[in-house]
Amino acid sequence: MFLHTMSKRGLQYFTLSEIEPRVWFMLTGCNFRCKGCFRPARDGGGTLLTADETLERVEQACLNYYGKVPAEAMITGGEPTLDKVYLLSLLKGLKEKGFEEIVLMTNGYALGEDENYVTELEEAGLTEAHVDLKAFSEDIHRWYTGKSNKPVLRAIEKLNESGIELLVQTIYMPGIVDDAEIEQIARFLASLNKDMRYRINPFAHVFAYEKVTRRPTLEEMERAYEVASKYLPNAIISRSCYREYPTPPPQKTWITVYPDLTVKRRGMKDQAEERLSWLSPVRSESVIGDWKREEWDFKLRHSLLGISEAKKYVAKEEKGSGSGHVKVKFPRALHGLTRTRELELDFDGSTTIEEVLERLVEKYGNEFREKIMDGSEIRRSFNIYLNGMNIKNVQDIKTEVHGNDEIIILSWVSGG
Ligand code: SF4
Repeated sequence: MFLHTMSKRGLQYFTLSEIEPRVWFMLTGCNFRCKGCFRPARDGGGTLLTADETLERVEQACLNYYGKVPAEAMITGGEPTLDKVYLLSLLKGLKEKGFEEIVLMTNGYALGEDENYVTELEEAGLTEAHVDLKAFSEDIHRWYTGKSNKPVLRAIEKLNESGIELLVQTIYMPGIVDDAEIEQIARFLASLNKDMRYRINPFAHVFAYEKVTRRPTLEEMERAYEVASKYLPNAIISRSCYREYPTPPPQKTWITVYPDLTVKRRGMKDQAEERLSWLSPVRSESVIGDWKREEWDFKLRHSLLGISEAKKYVAKEEKGSGSGHVKVKFPRALHGLTRTRELELDFDGSTTIEEVLERLVEKYGNEFREKIMDGSEIRRSFNIYLNGMNIKNVQDIKTEVHGNDEIIILSWVSGG
């Protein structure tokens, strides 16, 4: 018992968002050895802290910077699930401190190996999980990560059955994990839940531990999207964390708070330097050459997300009809108010997002309006997607809605 309460994990740093009050935990160590890993945290290090010590420091860091505890915490690494006792204590503590949305970014392995892990995470307060499914073929997965993918597939099944929101993601690696693998993954996910959220990210060879392949082309990413969306209407192609990049302008700096609570504002160049110094003993010349040739490209990030959004929008517009049902899906941040994850509304003829929101205010009262609207605008902490397209990229609240359309409200004070 004593040993349990003293469980410790290495903490590299916290990251605070400048867009919204939001904090990331960068825990060190990992049970995988992905050839293309780009996370120095996987190799351990950082400051060893108990969950209580981590909580004290994160609270202090947030109070110093935001003057309050934010609604959202993202637990990442490295691999955050390595020590269950630590992670469950951290989750419970975050919930007690007032965090509402707690997101775990994981390779899923430990969650599939331990029958009770997912249930315990949900009971401890986890609201969302992002699971990396590196490959569907066992031999590719073993070659790339050093481990079987069976526990990862099991973790996805268990999370899908739980009340934890789930996003599965795969890195597209030309010649390794490309269309054939993506198709098998999409088929597997759709067999569990056709509404599964699935994201395909491009391999970033520049900071990969081993340069196992090249960066995919835009055409390859588009094709991967087409393949995945045959099975999964919620598939997207994107890059990295789209909570921080819901719409331009992109975030360019982050506040890094080290375990001793010293603070540094870091940009992409600082992150690059951190990775370059991690990689230098392994592949210094090639990586520095690559880095010089190809700086991180925020436009690509947006164009990828934009491509999937635009394709969904056009496909739906082509199929669209006039009157009928409009499905609205709510983020967890609104479930307390809506008491449901989704709702269908009937309209005669086409309508607009604005009118849909008015109907929701009639149903859920002014509290709903105050939560998501700031005057006549959607709060920055929420995004509304119509058939996968961010309405900010169409006509905002004046965007037309037709029968059989689907509206998803995502919270970025929470969000994926
Ligand atoms: S990519 Fe993620 S799961 Fe793979 S070794 Fe790196 S930190 Fe671990």
